[in-house]
Amino acid sequence: MDLTYSAEDEEFRAQLRTWLDTAVQRQSPPPPPGDWPARRAYDTQWQRTLYDAGYAGLHWPVAFGGRGLPVSQQLVYLEEYARANAPYISVNFVGLMHAGPTLIAEGTDEQRAFHLPRILTGESVWCQGFSEPGAGSDLASLQTRAVRDGDHYIVNGQKIWSTRAHVADYCELLVRTDPDAPKHKGITWLILDMHQPGVDVRPMRTIDGESHFCEVFLDDARVPVSNRVGEENDGWRVTNVTLRFERGTAFAQHVITLRSQLRKLVDVAQDTPAVGGGTAWDDAEFRRHVGRLDASVDALWRMTQMGIADTERTGMPARSGSAVKLRYSEITQEIADLLLRTVGRAALAGVPGPAADAMREYLWSLQYTIAAGTSQIQRNLIAERILGMPR
Ligand SMILES: Cc1cc2nc3c(=O)[nH]c(=O)nc-3n(C[C@H](O)[C@H](O)[C@H](O)COP(=O)(O)OP(=O)(O)OC[C@H]3O[C@@H](n4cnc5c(N)ncnc54)[C@H](O)[C@@H]3O)c2cc1C
Repeated sequence: MDLTYSAEDEEFRAQLRTWLDTAVQRQSPPPPPGDWPARRAYDTQWQRTLYDAGYAGLHWPVAFGGRGLPVSQQLVYLEEYARANAPYISVNFVGLMHAGPTLIAEGTDEQRAFHLPRILTGESVWCQGFSEPGAGSDLASLQTRAVRDGDHYIVNGQKIWSTRAHVADYCELLVRTDPDAPKHKGITWLILDMHQPGVDVRPMRTIDGESHFCEVFLDDARVPVSNRVGEENDGWRVTNVTLRFERGTAFAQHVITLRSQLRKLVDVAQDTPAVGGGTAWDDAEFRRHVGRLDASVDALWRMTQMGIADTERTGMPARSGSAVKLRYSEITQEIADLLLRTVGRAALAGVPGPAADAMREYLWSLQYTIAAGTSQIQRNLIAERILGMPR
C-alpha cells in the first residue's frame, strides 16, 4: 500500500476538518458517567448528526447505505476524527464495528435492508452475547441452547460481560443448536430482539464504580428463524467473521486516539510540579519514555493502515488484527500507567479534575488486555495463524 495521501484525499481532509470543527463545538458535553439512558441518547444523536452530514459508514458499500469511499479516505477520516476529539462512538460500537460488517458479509438481503440503515442512523443499538460464565477464551464451549419450534428458535441460557446490553435493541447472539455435535459444529449465530419477555438484563458493577456491561438471562426468548445469520450449526464460521472485524478494523479508531492520549500525558506532565522545582516534563528519562511511546504509536498506526488496506482488498479484516489489538492494549495501558504515576497521590483524592480522570483512565485501560480476546489468546492466534507455528 502507498502510505501517502493524494490531492483528493487532502481535499476530503480539509472539508471534513472544517465540518468536524463546527460540529464538535456544537455538541453539548457528554452526560455524567453512569447515566446510561442519557448516554444512549447522546451517542445516537451524534451518530445521526454524522449520518446526516454524510460521514457515517464511510467504508460500507453504497448498496448498504454507506459511502464506499477508498481506504485512504477512511484513514483520513479516522485521523481527523481523533484530531477533533470527536465523541467516542460508544453505544454504537457493536453495531457499526462488527454486527453491521458481519451482516454485510453474511446476512440475507432482508436482514441487511432492515438493520444496516438503522445502525448507520443510530436508530438501533446492538450488543454482543458471545461470552458465558463457562465460555470466554474457549468460546466454542458455550451452552446457551436454542431449540427449533416451527419458524422460531426458543432460547434458554445465560450470557455475561455483554457491553451496554442495558441500552441495546439487538444482540448478536451465539447459541448451541446441536448439543451432540463436536463443540465447534453445533453453534448458530442469531439476531436477538432485546425488547421481549424472557430477556432479563442485569448490569454489573465494575472497578470504576460504573456499569459498562451486563449479565443477560434468556428464559424461553424467541428468535424468528429469519433472524439466523448463516446456516444452522454453521455459526462458528460466522463468529470468526465477527471476531476478525472486532479484533481487526474495530481497533483502528482506538489506535489513532493513542496520539491524543499521549498529547494529554505531555500536557499534564508540563502542568505537574516536580519535587525540587520545575515540572514532571523536565525529567529527561520521562521525556525519553514518551518519545519511545510516540514511536510505538506511529509504528502501530502504520500497521493498522496496512491492515485496513488489506480489508479493502479482500473484504475481510487482515489476520494482523490480532497483533494490532495486542500491541494497542499494551501501549494504552503503558500510557495510562505513566499518566497515573505523573499525577501521583492526587489521583486518589477523588476530586473531579485531571487527577481523577487519570485514575478513571487507568482503571478503564485494564480491560483492554481481556476484552475482545485476552492477550494470551491473541499471542496464540499470532503464533498459529500468522507465523504458522504448531498448536
Ligand atoms: C470490558 C470488557 C467488555 C467485554 N464485552 C463483551 C461483550 O460485549 N460481549 C461478550 O460476549 N463478551 C464480552 N467480554 C468478555 C471477553 O470476551 C472475555 O472476558 C474474554 O474472552 C476472556 O474470557 P474469560 O473472562 O472467561 O477468561 P478465561 O477464558 O477464563 O481466561 C482466564 C485466563 O486464562 C487465560 N487463558 C485461557 N485460555 C488460554 C489458552 N488457550 N492459552 C493461554 N491462556 C489462556 C486467559 O488469557 C486469561 O488470562 C468483555 C470483557 C471485558 C473485560
